[in-house]
Amino acid sequence: MPMEANNCRFCRTPLNRVFLDLGRTPLANSYLSAAQLEKPEPVYPLKVHVCESCLLVQAQPVVPAEDIFSDYAYFSSFSSTWLDHAARYCADMRDRLGLTPDSFVVEIASNDGYLLKNFVAAGIPCLGVEPAANVAAEAVRQGVPTEVAFFGAETATRLGANRLANLMAANNVLAHVPDLNDFVAGFKISLAPGGTVTVEFPHILELIRDVQFDTIYHEHYSYFSLYTLEKVFAAHGLCLFDAQRLPTHGGSLRIFVCHDDDARAEAANANLADLRAAENAAGLDRIEGYDGMTSRVDAVVSGLNAFLSQAAADGKRVAAWGAAAKGNTLLNVAGVKAGQIDFVVDRNPAKQGHYLPGSHIPVVTPETLFGEKPDYLLILPWNLAGEIRAEAADIRQWGGRFVTAIPDLRIRD
Ligand SMILES: [Zn+2]
Repeated sequence: MPMEANNCRFCRTPLNRVFLDLGRTPLANSYLSAAQLEKPEPVYPLKVHVCESCLLVQAQPVVPAEDIFSDYAYFSSFSSTWLDHAARYCADMRDRLGLTPDSFVVEIASNDGYLLKNFVAAGIPCLGVEPAANVAAEAVRQGVPTEVAFFGAETATRLGANRLANLMAANNVLAHVPDLNDFVAGFKISLAPGGTVTVEFPHILELIRDVQFDTIYHEHYSYFSLYTLEKVFAAHGLCLFDAQRLPTHGGSLRIFVCHDDDARAEAANANLADLRAAENAAGLDRIEGYDGMTSRVDAVVSGLNAFLSQAAADGKRVAAWGAAAKGNTLLNVAGVKAGQIDFVVDRNPAKQGHYLPGSHIPVVTPETLFGEKPDYLLILPWNLAGEIRAEAADIRQWGGRFVTAIPDLRIRD
């Protein structure tokens, strides 16, 4: 069913209020080959609305999800921080929910099996659901049973016919879902009585507070508050019963969800109460709380451009680390071009030898960094800054310094 243009993807209210308009940019994960540099590069509007009724912050898809996610370049296992996070999650869930070899775990958007492999190792039956065939194939090679599919009511009905899930995990996928109601309906269908769904997503509270506008790109269709998500799950007979704050992606939430007739749905929960209070204090329960992003983004962009101009004037060389989607939003909104930044380092071999969309900065190996010895290293995935500063610690040997641009420009040793 095609989405109605310009209506809220949850409550269908017409969208008339702009949260942030970032102009027109290429798709953030459309890395270019040398031959493609010569061709015209498609750009698409990157405009985010906030629904005046349910306060869901959202963008209309500009290209079908099938075009983006069916052959995906992102392999979760390239981030050691993320692997550790997944291992801790599996240990925590086994303890908290008392999972045994008689339980069944389903992960939506299971990527290369980075998370479920922990359940496989523990002898707990599991199934991954992953739309990108190339990434799913890697999971299967690692011994993680994986179904190549987009999740929603139809997939849930098919999978649930075999076995309902005691635990369903959906990490950093909800933002990528074009048909939010169909997706959440799938949880209701697939979840066993007494079962638990956990969903992790970047919290819009942090996006607004820390001007994390670079987490906005065409693959992210929704940006969630607890306020709005409680309405979304309730509309599908599901209820939040706990939540945790996580440091991942600059500040995420992990919510715990059960059927609305589960005893856990009735119990008061201090974590939920605290988060609701924090959101209300930030104004996220009313439309005015979403105002004012444009001028704050302009200040970040000015800070980055001033730094690059000064570096050029001083004859200093600047490189970047992390050919991630969020870096592309920052660079393209700021209008940065190859030459201002010599190259970007990335460990993913699928990206090396290619060029960033829009800015056309070449993607190279970490070894190139240590050979070229630039004066500054701009860390694009600031959420992984600790990991990257440790990995690139040797730049200090030639006086190299680390730079981050969000929430404001910072230079450090
Ligand atoms: Zn709405």
